Amino acid sequence: MASARRPVIPPGPWLVVGLERSGAACARALWQRGEPVIGVDIGEPPQAAALRHEGIEISLKTDGIEELDRARAVVRSPGVPNEAAVLVAARAAGIPIYSELELGWRMLESPFVAVTGTNGKTTTVELLGEIWRAAGREVCVAGNVGTAVSSLVGEIGPETTVICEASSFQLEDSVAFDPEIAVLLNIEPDHLDRHGDFDCYRRAKLELFAFQDDADVAVGSAAMLALAGGSARRVTVDWDGASGAEIELRDGLICWNGTALLAASEVRLRGAHNLENALCAAAAALSAGIPAEAVAAALRSFAGVEHRLEELGTCGGVLWVNDSKATNVASTLVALAAFEQPLLLIAGGQAKGQQFVDLAAAAAASVRAAFLIGEDAELIAASFEGAVEWSRCQSLEEATAAAAASATEGEVVLLSPACASFDQFPDGFEQRGEEFRQIVAQLPGFSSS
Ligand code: ADP
Repeated sequence: MASARRPVIPPGPWLVVGLERSGAACARALWQRGEPVIGVDIGEPPQAAALRHEGIEISLKTDGIEELDRARAVVRSPGVPNEAAVLVAARAAGIPIYSELELGWRMLESPFVAVTGTNGKTTTVELLGEIWRAAGREVCVAGNVGTAVSSLVGEIGPETTVICEASSFQLEDSVAFDPEIAVLLNIEPDHLDRHGDFDCYRRAKLELFAFQDDADVAVGSAAMLALAGGSARRVTVDWDGASGAEIELRDGLICWNGTALLAASEVRLRGAHNLENALCAAAAALSAGIPAEAVAAALRSFAGVEHRLEELGTCGGVLWVNDSKATNVASTLVALAAFEQPLLLIAGGQAKGQQFVDLAAAAAASVRAAFLIGEDAELIAASFEGAVEWSRCQSLEEATAAAAASATEGEVVLLSPACASFDQFPDGFEQRGEEFRQIVAQLPGFSSS
């Protein structure tokens, strides 16, 4: 897969808004190219001191409006909302705003495989990394998953493929971002509190394809590709057996252009949703010229990412599963569907404007008892009432103890909250999942997987 030429980086001075991980990496990369850079942040992020030490002008505890006067272009960290005063002012003044992702991409010569979707991005990019490594190719997994794309500038050569997890927040200000391969996994209502409505959220996601040309590849189901703009070659993924897709499930086999790669049952990841992720990853890799054997080997070996249907271990014949990353209803629905055993569900947190009617309907069939926690537990309880047995717990610890007391051999206790965690866990789903892991490890007789 050859990398295309990238659009030029417009001249500074640059105002970098938000100096957490990706903003800081972008400020540094621009500065190292010799651009004048001013970094601003409304708080005092830990990276700021190092940037100042390197010679970059930094203003903290400021909205950045004053500094905007001296800027000709703005980079925005993905955490900065659209309505931040400095972005509103930049738009009004006609000063261009770029995402950190786009600038990182412009500064690199590597081919890009970018993955977006509401759910499954991290799993899919990590699986793609495993596929590239199985083929012995140079690869770097970056973006929303943790490593800022800009931090790769100067660290990797053009032969290294960048597998990039692109969130809607990172795609929002795309000007020309044009990955060689773009994958859209799915779109479900999420982050409506930040994007305003579903249309805005969907529009942000579809930016991934907008600037692709016919040398590029767009991967997704027929339904997802029907939404995509741009003029990339379409590579269709089909998990329901309809004909004509480049990659499809046929008689239990995963087939690429009619040739069987491996049996679906050999894919190590659990659940139908993960099979969808695996098919999308395989389609992207095969389109990039990765040999089929390497794709099949990685699909067989990849065990998944922590906090995503992560099997912690068993206790008295009860399986304990950490799916703390299920921060929306769609991801909890697929978690429920991934098990045949009766479930004890621990859910709740911040609802982010979601409805829980669909969750209640699915839980009625698979959940024996639910233990509800967090700020919006009552919202879930109201939907569950009469359909699913539920109890209200004050903390994750209390919910875990209640589930442990209730669970019997052959059942599964599943933490899959369908909600954000920030009300009880300021550091997010990782903190929630780690705490769960620690509480579960203390259960008498627990043995880890
Ligand atoms: P993301 O990076 O998009 O948040 P993750 O791979 O971290 O995606 O998974 C987030 C949550 O969504 C997990 O709970 C996971 O089990 C679930 N999930 C993963 N893939 C899918 C999918 N294709 N459809 C729905 N839910 C999914």
